Amino acid sequence: MNGSPASSALRAEPVLRAAGPLSAPTGPLGATLDVDGATSAPAVLRAQRRFADCADPAALAEEVVEQARAAGWARALLLLTVARSRHRELEVLAARGEGAPAPGERTTGAELTRTAPAAVVELVAGDPRAPRLAVWGAPAPGAAALDVLAAAAGAAWCAVRAAAEAERAAAELAGVRQLLSGAVRLAGLGSWSWDAATGRVVLDDRLRAMLGAEPTDPDPDLADWRERVHPDDRGPFTGVEDPVTRVGTSVPYPFRVRCADGSERTFLGTSVPLDAAHPGVVQGLVLDLGAGDRSTGELVRLAQCDSLTGLANRAVLDVRLGEALAAAGPACAVALVLLDLDRFKLVNDTLGHQIGDALLRRTAERLQEAAPAGSTLARLGGDEFVLMVPGVDRPESAVAMARNVIRRLRAPVLLPGLPEPFVCTSSAGVAIGHGGTADELFRSADMALYRAKDAGRDRVAVYDSAMRDDAQARREAEHKVRRALRTDGLRVVWQPIVDLRDERLVAAEALVRLQDPVEGLLEPSAFVETAEDTGLIVDVDTWVLGEVLRQLRRWRGEGNGLQVSFNVSGKTLEHPAFAHRLAHSVESTGAAGSSLLCEVTERTLIDLSSSTRASLGELRSVGARVGLDDFGTGYSSLSYLDRFPLSFLKIDMSFVRPLGTSARAAAVVEALIGLAHAHGMVVTAEGVETREQATMLREMGCDRAQGWLFGRPVDAGRLTAGR
Ligand code: C2E
Ligand code: MG
Ligand code: MG
Repeated sequence: MNGSPASSALRAEPVLRAAGPLSAPTGPLGATLDVDGATSAPAVLRAQRRFADCADPAALAEEVVEQARAAGWARALLLLTVARSRHRELEVLAARGEGAPAPGERTTGAELTRTAPAAVVELVAGDPRAPRLAVWGAPAPGAAALDVLAAAAGAAWCAVRAAAEAERAAAELAGVRQLLSGAVRLAGLGSWSWDAATGRVVLDDRLRAMLGAEPTDPDPDLADWRERVHPDDRGPFTGVEDPVTRVGTSVPYPFRVRCADGSERTFLGTSVPLDAAHPGVVQGLVLDLGAGDRSTGELVRLAQCDSLTGLANRAVLDVRLGEALAAAGPACAVALVLLDLDRFKLVNDTLGHQIGDALLRRTAERLQEAAPAGSTLARLGGDEFVLMVPGVDRPESAVAMARNVIRRLRAPVLLPGLPEPFVCTSSAGVAIGHGGTADELFRSADMALYRAKDAGRDRVAVYDSAMRDDAQARREAEHKVRRALRTDGLRVVWQPIVDLRDERLVAAEALVRLQDPVEGLLEPSAFVETAEDTGLIVDVDTWVLGEVLRQLRRWRGEGNGLQVSFNVSGKTLEHPAFAHRLAHSVESTGAAGSSLLCEVTERTLIDLSSSTRASLGELRSVGARVGLDDFGTGYSSLSYLDRFPLSFLKIDMSFVRPLGTSARAAAVVEALIGLAHAHGMVVTAEGVETREQATMLREMGCDRAQGWLFGRPVDAGRLTAGR
């Protein structure tokens, strides 16, 4: 066994230990082991042979573990490391012995060490993906050597995995087949396939019906089929002698075809080579567009262009990108520039869809002016555009080109219906492909675009491998949030807010936490941003709101008049359901709406859409107060007070921290307090950590304070205890 003591040594030492990781399997049902001693090798082979014929691998894995126990090991577990993180998790595949965890349960090395000898710690070292057999206890004399058991375990695992994989793939394939044939039927499409080996074109019943052919008519060969197609439309059906891939193209093409009764119909077709396993087979679908002679040029445009802007559509881009990548090499790359207008949604929301459409059309025109010769410009939908440039030799030139494009888009533009020239910036993500798939290149450009947006928009970002790690981290965070929402893994902690005059507890802010089964209690910095990006924040905020209302009722019941403050993301406020739910709960349960303090950020007010405004209005209508959180971290302008009346303002801790060391900071905070008071707002200072800061703030007339000086976020019970 790799990395484990020799089997003879194991047998000599009665209180045992753990087997180290098994070496990697060489085939789906085999396991090679670096066994020492000639006697072990045949046993390993025997074990492998047994498992190769195995019908029920899961049962066999159980059997291996049972065998280990029968050999005298008190407890035996077959484990697989499932998470590579600070605290690795081990999944129990099979287990025997008193107190052993059940199969499917997760455990950690640390947990195992509590019951097992210290050597089990070794178990989690080394390659974490390899399955391991952990045993401890005293083996019976002459029992099977641990390495043989481990070999059996490795083979069992391989079999389990191969069987599960095959089952899953088969189920997936069956599902896809069903879905696809349903979609084809639903869309009224006909289908055909052509096999270069036999030369036959096989038509399905629907296509036969479209052509007026009898079910008993023989299938045509390619030459017959071509003869039926209008001579001007035969382009896609040439290339019979060419490699099969030339025949198939997933860009839709219109063509006229003669039916059995001599009439002519126009079809829209698309075809693709089947797959690598069936070389020479091309499959196609056709949609019947009706009788008669339609303008082919017009149909081509319809099929291949985006109707709003006239740019290429996604289907055309995919084909051209595929071709460009196939031709790319180490010295000649394809640049993909993904472009997105900044805050385009706001244009639609505030100026209307007609202006939005006009802006998209103008953007397309400007892109066409900026696009280099030989490039493909496409609109993917919404405000997402793509520029694909083949034959790029240096990444820097792609970046310079993208910069030039967004600079042009930044220039003011006159739009019909708007009195003033309009300015809309854009962001771009650039990825360079020397080969690989279109999908990979798209994903990379998308990550770069995300980075450009995240860094403040109106800029170009280029993909680098760190972005992949970043995207991976975001995916993991997303998974954690989803799991927490599903498994009741969110928590709320409460931080005291005091009246600065007498330092009496007057309110508490609800702050969300995530109880992760692997990493423990996580703070918002680990997941709130991802939750916002993915829209999961709506569910998080809704869950927190439920807790806030429950706690508020509990405190009311205890005669406690505390106000509760809670954070709401702008994304959440865009969903009317959130405010409805709050209003409904307040009205139906008699909770005091006036005890609710809703904290929003500057971003929410800057992006204020009509639905957000309606939500905030609804919160106010039940007595809740709306205030501004983190003032000083964003634009730090109170100009949006005209947009929505605010009841309170929280000064961010970055303003509070320098108090006592910077006279300028003190002057700014004092002016801010005066300004907020002039607008009738209650001012709370955040992040108050020292007595000196508290005293200064009180002297400046600040109303309330929150910070470690007065208490860290704690459970509800601990918040009120002793107050
Ligand atoms: P926030 O709303 O500004 O909350 C105050 C943050 O400052 C809290 O961090 C709190 O623990 C921290 N803090 C308070 N006093 C001090 C202090 O004296 N010194 C220092 N260094 N820090 C202090 P936390 O809990 O990590 O929350 C971070 C942010 O996450 C919150 O900032 C808020 O923007 C967001 N957040 C928290 N809960 C929710 C939620 O339920 N929904 C949404 N949408 N966002 C939330
Ligand atoms: Mg807050
Ligand atoms: Mg804050």
